[in-house]
Amino acid sequence: MDHKRALQNPIFGIVANAAKELGVDCYVIGGFVRDYFLKRGTPKDIDIVAVGSGISLAKKVASKLDGTPKVSVFKNFGTAMIKQGNLEVEFVGARRESYNRNSRKPVVEDSTLEDDQKRRDFTINALAISLNQSNFGELLDPFDGLADLEKKRIRTPLEPGITYSDDPLRMLRAIRFATQLGFTIQLESLQAITAHKERIQIISKERIVDELHKILASSKPSIGFTLLHKTELLSYILPELVALQGIEEKEGQRHKDNFWHTLEVVDNIAETTDNLWLRWAALLHDIGKAPTKRFHKKIGWTFHGHEFVGAKMVYKLFKRLRMPLNDKMKFVQKMVLMSSRPIVLSEDFVTDSAVRRLVFDAGEYVEDLMTLCEADITTKNPKKQRRYKNNFKQVRQKIVEVEERDHIRNFQPPISGEEIMTTFNLRPSREIGIIKEAIKEAILEGEIPNEYEAAKAFMLKKGAELGLSV
Ligand code: ATP
Ligand code: MG
Repeated sequence: MDHKRALQNPIFGIVANAAKELGVDCYVIGGFVRDYFLKRGTPKDIDIVAVGSGISLAKKVASKLDGTPKVSVFKNFGTAMIKQGNLEVEFVGARRESYNRNSRKPVVEDSTLEDDQKRRDFTINALAISLNQSNFGELLDPFDGLADLEKKRIRTPLEPGITYSDDPLRMLRAIRFATQLGFTIQLESLQAITAHKERIQIISKERIVDELHKILASSKPSIGFTLLHKTELLSYILPELVALQGIEEKEGQRHKDNFWHTLEVVDNIAETTDNLWLRWAALLHDIGKAPTKRFHKKIGWTFHGHEFVGAKMVYKLFKRLRMPLNDKMKFVQKMVLMSSRPIVLSEDFVTDSAVRRLVFDAGEYVEDLMTLCEADITTKNPKKQRRYKNNFKQVRQKIVEVEERDHIRNFQPPISGEEIMTTFNLRPSREIGIIKEAIKEAILEGEIPNEYEAAKAFMLKKGAELGLSV
């Protein structure tokens, strides 16, 4: 069958002409072809393989394009890239690869299309469509990738043990594609991943995190984390999560399995937000539970202070994985630290002052925190489920009401330290802090509105109590 329909983008005609002039064969290969068959929307990148020099082909193509775009050449990899608007077109020469055990860096030799297809990670990523005049649009599929697409199956072109141990990043790519596409990893592949799991240690943290981001950004991240767990890769990547797995029973009292609970929370939150960092917060919100778990005869299992311990663990985890230690990390920490607050609050009658305190502490992230807590409801009891959801709805409503009235979200003290100093004729001193704090407390408790006049009157009263004179 002919797949010219895949080649409607005018870039393909230009590449084909350039290749003809150079006298080399070339093909579009990999993700673009896969996603064409899966009807997966507009591609971000196109990979072209030339049986010859990819770099020369890229230069020739650029010379034919409007404005002769820049060619970025990666000499060490023998690849070149041209940017066309949002689209990246990558060129590589067909090659054979051989690996040694201690690195991902292969020895590379120029070779045929078929050898190039063998070095690809999965059969579904080895599909190629010809750009040559003689068979323009023909599919080249030596490993039955098309059948695997239909069967929704992830399979390696070579014996899986070879593919994975040559480049262990492929283990994570397999799991990531399974998650993104909702595919099944072929059993032999899963077994090979498990067998070679410790090889993941030669992969850079950045690449590992890249794949984790993609898994988390999928519509059902639990698929990926379940596979990471099953293959035991998770112990190398996120041991904090592995430590949450299991249910202990003492004197007839059990606690829930916090690993499987966490995965449910992540799937829940994936339905309501695309915010990657909020999804990270969902993944990590309970990690403090493993080190804080205790059993008490009277009250059973507790996890006292797990939010605080968890927030500290977030820092260590980000650092270990070389993730940014910036405002994103602080956001995740804050979510973990505050993850139980709305729950505690919603258990009783929801008071205005409790809501004001929540808004004060969560600041601009109060909605994100509510989203996290709603995702955290995983009870299978429909009555409880309804009650919790309803309580959170009330909390959200109260947040809006309180915010309209009191503007707590970006709280700025209505009376400055300087005004306190001049009013009571004070030098910098302890009293100023005491009065400022008292004003803030009075506002949060609802004793006074968050307004200048009321705060000023309160300040004068408080000053008098402290024996200060104006
Ligand atoms: P996406 O871009 O959606 O993540 P993709 O399949 O295009 O998916 P890329 O990382 O862009 O993935 O790689 C392009 C192609 O290069 C793949 O389809 C595959 O054929 C090949 N490839 C990428 N990484 C590897 C790898 N580690 N081992 C073998 N082949 C790989
Ligand atoms: Mg791609």
